[in-house]
Amino acid sequence: MNDCLFCKIISGEIPSKFVYEDDLMVAFNDINPQAPIHLLFVPKKHIESLDTADENDFEILKKMLKSIKKYAQNEGFSEDGYRIVINVNKMGGQEVYHIHFHLVAGRQMQWPPG
Ligand code: AMP
Ligand code: ZN
Repeated sequence: MNDCLFCKIISGEIPSKFVYEDDLMVAFNDINPQAPIHLLFVPKKHIESLDTADENDFEILKKMLKSIKKYAQNEGFSEDGYRIVINVNKMGGQEVYHIHFHLVAGRQMQWPPG
């Protein structure tokens, strides 16, 4: 996708430091962090949103979630806890239409969200 911010970050057109990368995804710090740890896990495939994800996309998302779980365990914030968020479409607060998991950690999370 030519005009997609996250595709540009993944391709290196927009420089970014990846804290994690594998064959399916990259992870980098959110530019506007909402917690001491706020990462975005983004598939290398351009998938617009959870709303448009097809069966193949769900295979990717499933593998991503497993890798994120391992990442959190390896980084040592799994036991304290963390939150994974996918914002979907306008009312869900989605701003970038390239699906991503937010991972926030390092402080007590509240519920309900604002
Ligand atoms: P969402 O609202 O779920 O689509 O999340 C988009 C996220 O991308 C927001 O939390 C933004 O702060 C973040 N963001 C926007 N531009 C950048 C960027 N250049 N690098 C890192 N994160 C970004
Ligand atoms: Zn994209």
